[in-house]
Amino acid sequence: MASERMDYYRAKYKTLEDLPGVGPATASKLRQIGFKTVESLATAAVQEVTAAGIGEATAAKIIEAARKSMAITFVRGDELIKLRSNVRRLTTGCGALDKLLAGGIETQSITEFYGEFGTGKSQICQQLCLTVQLPPEKGGLDGGALYIDTENTFRTDRIMQIAPRFGLDPKEALKRIIYAEAYTSSHQMILLENADEVIKENNIRLIIIDSLTSHFRSEYLGREMLAARQQMLNKHLHKLIRLARAFNACAVVTNQVMAQPDVFFAKMVAPVGGHILGHMSHTRIFLRKGRGETRIARLTVSPFLPEGEVPIRITERGVESDEDVM
Ligand code: ADP
Ligand code: MG
Repeated sequence: MASERMDYYRAKYKTLEDLPGVGPATASKLRQIGFKTVESLATAAVQEVTAAGIGEATAAKIIEAARKSMAITFVRGDELIKLRSNVRRLTTGCGALDKLLAGGIETQSITEFYGEFGTGKSQICQQLCLTVQLPPEKGGLDGGALYIDTENTFRTDRIMQIAPRFGLDPKEALKRIIYAEAYTSSHQMILLENADEVIKENNIRLIIIDSLTSHFRSEYLGREMLAARQQMLNKHLHKLIRLARAFNACAVVTNQVMAQPDVFFAKMVAPVGGHILGHMSHTRIFLRKGRGETRIARLTVSPFLPEGEVPIRITERGVESDEDVM
């Protein structure tokens, strides 16, 4: 069964106190700074753990023990194949998009949808909240979704409208979506830093940040704040990728970009996150408007897939294409 492979990502220790060298006092310190599960500790850095007032040597030992319990350490090439085989694909529910992505969105890495306002970024995110709930034989991960919303665009009505297309009961489907609105960039960061327990308890297999960049962009203005913004964004993305690895989950972020009106030809778009986001998100999909309900999805960056683009549609039924199976 599929869950057997996923169990690889569950640590053998159930609680922090089960880790050698972690007593109630240390466990409580760790929980206070957002490490509530062994899984999140396994992907932590020593500096993050010392922030709880724990000595460096102890911190290193704790992390090591958490890692060993999950086999996150040096691996031989043949074992790497086994580890990679834990990477799963989540269907977008849109046949053309799935084709572009060679089957769907990968777990354990970040996928970024970027484009102008109204190009369908949030629509895709909301549809993914449903497809993640599907069983593996239908392209899902049989899990829940965590939705961090910075623009207040998530709509329960929309979820309930799309659910029947995937054979899901609208009310039941909503129960498997954990939602949080982030009011500022630091609130957004704190939400993610404290998400590990929620992720574990609700079997979250999809973490969405919609939009990743809006707060950062409006709060860190001007050139002199650029370095600080990138540093924060970098920290935030590191946390995201670690959670995705620890729980074998998909991480999906959106990024609204402006078309540069002075670039006449290719209608080039400058990503807000700049270089950091470019390096960190492993797969990037650019969305632009076509005629009417049509949108063009273009795969611009992928670790292993060729560039390409496909037409999709945003309709009452969600995100569709001519190649849909559901
Ligand atoms: P953004 O890229 O800014 O996140 P959205 O994902 O919010 O954009 O997409 C907005 C688009 O989705 C609009 O063009 C809107 O017409 C379309 N849309 C939203 N809800 C529906 C619906 N129920 N039926 C048809 N189209 C919809
Ligand atoms: Mg949006």
